[in-house]
Amino acid sequence: MALIELNSVSKCYKVNKVENKYVLKDVTLSFPETGLVSILGKSGSGKSTLLNLIGKLDDPSNGVVYFNGDNIAKYNEKKLTLFRKNIVSYIFQHYHLLENQTALYNVMLPCLLKGDSFSLAKRKVLSLIDDFSIDEVILNKKCSLLSGGEKERIAIMRAFINEPQVLLADEPTGALDKDNALLVMESLRKASEHSLVIVVTHNEQLARQYSDRIIHMKDGKVIYDEKVRLISGRNDNKVKRSLGGNPNWYNKIIASNFIKRFKRNIFSLFALMVGIVASMVIFGFSNGSHHSISVSTEKQFDYGVASISKENKIKSDESPITLIQTLRSSEEEIQELKYEYDFLHYCLSYDYLVSPALETFINEDEIQGLTYTPVYSFIDSSIDKSLLVKGKIPSFNTLNQVVINQTAYDYLKKETKSDPLHLYLHLKDNKAVTYYTDDLEKPYITDYFTYDRLVEIVGVVKELTFLNTPKIYYPYVALDKYLNETFLNNLSEYQGQISWKERIMFAQDNEFITSYSHKVFLKNSGDVYKLKEMKEKLDDEYSLNSNALTIEETLFQLVDAASVGMEVFLVISLVGTMMIIGIISFASYNEDIKESAVLLSLGAKRDDVAALYLFENFLLGIISLVLSFIITTFIEKPLNSLIKHFTTLIDIVDIPFKSFMGKPFLFPLIIIVSALFICLIATYLPIMFSKKISLKEVLNTND
Ligand code: ADP
Ligand code: MG
Repeated sequence: MALIELNSVSKCYKVNKVENKYVLKDVTLSFPETGLVSILGKSGSGKSTLLNLIGKLDDPSNGVVYFNGDNIAKYNEKKLTLFRKNIVSYIFQHYHLLENQTALYNVMLPCLLKGDSFSLAKRKVLSLIDDFSIDEVILNKKCSLLSGGEKERIAIMRAFINEPQVLLADEPTGALDKDNALLVMESLRKASEHSLVIVVTHNEQLARQYSDRIIHMKDGKVIYDEKVRLISGRNDNKVKRSLGGNPNWYNKIIASNFIKRFKRNIFSLFALMVGIVASMVIFGFSNGSHHSISVSTEKQFDYGVASISKENKIKSDESPITLIQTLRSSEEEIQELKYEYDFLHYCLSYDYLVSPALETFINEDEIQGLTYTPVYSFIDSSIDKSLLVKGKIPSFNTLNQVVINQTAYDYLKKETKSDPLHLYLHLKDNKAVTYYTDDLEKPYITDYFTYDRLVEIVGVVKELTFLNTPKIYYPYVALDKYLNETFLNNLSEYQGQISWKERIMFAQDNEFITSYSHKVFLKNSGDVYKLKEMKEKLDDEYSLNSNALTIEETLFQLVDAASVGMEVFLVISLVGTMMIIGIISFASYNEDIKESAVLLSLGAKRDDVAALYLFENFLLGIISLVLSFIITTFIEKPLNSLIKHFTTLIDIVDIPFKSFMGKPFLFPLIIIVSALFICLIATYLPIMFSKKISLKEVLNTND
């Protein structure tokens, strides 16, 4: 039985929409298991086309090519790979060696693809070199440095090395001088003793000298099938079939590709690194910001100060609007709160008389924007004394000495161009309060309250400066004492001697002088969390207002918005990174398309060829991951110091390297998997979208 049979095979190309040009017409041939068959004909007669069809580099338009009785057009991917790896070898017109690799590696490749070890493959190569007049010096040279004759012989050695069942050679002597041509034909002759060798040539003399049979072609037709000598012998060459290859065959190619594209790869590396570092930092920001803000806002001198009022909701059936009336809580209600939340001091609010916005003067110059803010006492544990950075906190409660915050210090320093410590501030306010009486002769009385004092700045506290205002701190107990001892002028004449404190104490809860609220102070500055819990727990009836909690909530919203913004930006930039790597690997893939085609023709699997790019990108991924982890670890601290310097927010970037959501090393794992996933997608997408490699087209050209 014939090894290869062609049955009425034709090949045509479309010239235009209606016209077809036949380059092979109705060719019927059969080939035995051994012998050297030449295909002879003028240029353009269809010789290469015929050879491509036999080798399954191309499919016929009509007719069938059989190998061992199987239609090779019907081979699936796996069978085709095995066919190329185990059965057929090609010697191309343009050598098609891997130019960046050594001659030795080129010849070893078919063995490696079959599964041989490197040392066995090398031994096989060395056993062949004498037959081809190749020495070890040539073997160790890079192919791009070889002469045409040397390249041709290396290409033939590569085709011979696995002793294929069928050897297809397209004009193997075309570019060679006479001596080299004879050498090549001699080798083919020798191979034909136990293989089928089909050689395309237009050198009739050589064909006649070496062939067993010559097929003459003209205009796509076989015009004469000439037996030159009797073909004898059978294929005694037992093909050692192999399924798997040496898994390390591509290491050298990956390494040399990586070096070949060094600059380009550095660029990908950089793109990936920026992406990974940005992801980690942004994630660290989302992760750390809330805790950081909580810790930082707790570092406020007046954190434990709040006001509490009652909200009276008035609904009407006729209107969808709910009116909210804010009132001071009654004495009984305050007693109840005191009982339930006993970690607070409850005080009357004097905000109407002594408002936070007093007029402030230094000498005669008015200073705007300072708030007059109470703490409970200078001498107990209601304040965090560790915040003091300059001067002292007075050792008794006085209204004549104040402590300011760092923001106020910086502000005053700028305004006065001198050190504000021990500076005197002149605080002033005038209030007129009118009272209605039952007396018809004197229906109302107006009392005047003047707050006017010169205070000395004796200390500075460092607190969260971000979103904070300049503050002057005074002790509330001292103000309470002062108001207790300060008597109303007109009203006390009318009702007997009463103090301003008494006046406020006995006022109606809806009177403006009550400020519609009580002041509350943490007894212990360490209990800030209790205040937060209380705010959560208080029902609709009460509202608890604290400057610090408001700042905290605002900051939460701010960083949440910032996080979302950065995450959106991050996703965009990751898509960008993916595209950069994708484009780069697309360019690499297309640049190496000839190399890929050669590997496929030697029987490499399509997936293995794709894996070359995948590995290259994975290598990039791994290097950039390592660098990114190093960089991120080193920038986290300085970055936090920088942010702390400008905002006093502590450790806002907290990258959960060690533990995330209670799982150790989950976060680095997520980053590693995502980065490698990006590499995978960026590698496969362009390959998938590239045209399937047509071996015939790539290998029959020489560019
Ligand atoms: P030979 O190897 O004998 O020189 P070929 O088999 O390469 O000839 O080509 C035979 C004919 O087929 C030539 O006329 C060539 O122009 C034509 N041909 C080959 N490939 C294509 C193609 N892809 N499209 C159109 N015509 C082609
Ligand atoms: Mg040709």
